[in-house]
Amino acid sequence: MGVGDEGTPAGASTGVYPGDVDVTDDVGLAGVPDAFQRLWTPHRLAYIKGGQDQVTSEHTCPFCRAPHQTDEEALIVHRGRHAFVLLNLFPYNAGHLLVCPYRHVPDYTDVDEAETAEIAALTQTAMRVLRRVASPTGFNLGMNQGATGGAGIAAHLHQHVVPRWGGDGNFLPIIAQTKAMTQTLGEVREQVAAAWPVSDDETGAAGSTAPC
Ligand SMILES: [Zn+2]
Repeated sequence: MGVGDEGTPAGASTGVYPGDVDVTDDVGLAGVPDAFQRLWTPHRLAYIKGGQDQVTSEHTCPFCRAPHQTDEEALIVHRGRHAFVLLNLFPYNAGHLLVCPYRHVPDYTDVDEAETAEIAALTQTAMRVLRRVASPTGFNLGMNQGATGGAGIAAHLHQHVVPRWGGDGNFLPIIAQTKAMTQTLGEVREQVAAAWPVSDDETGAAGSTAPC
């Protein structure tokens, strides 16, 4: 039984690996994408194209520019004393929020006590608001430190708050490089901003439950 004598329809193109072994199945064909490499690439590329390499100072930093824009323009849902909350322009899920200090500092060890407390309080409030608005069943929280650590904008610290729902990690982001988003960013911003508690205590003091 000779290799390649059977199973290759007439006219079908076949990949040929070194060793002259015909490959006729989708798995074996050369050039099949590596899903691992593609999983988060669209989001990272979007930030890189947006100027990540140029973010060396507050003059070119989108997180420094955002507070000088309107809430609608910058997708800001809440402005605190030392930190603010905005929608990620390239969300992993609808409602993906970022908590940023106003100061242009790159590292978690750079924020002072007041900033640390407010970032923590705003993160808690973000979770409460997202639960009220969209009923997620889980969250991913975290800070990527440095470009090596995966930070899209490494020069300005930001805490990710990503709501999760069962089954949201479906095949689309992996196979089609497409994330199915059910709402526009503007709609999500309006809902989250409207649900944000007015009298929230962002100093880190306990007992700041939402009044609404
Ligand atoms: Zn900045």
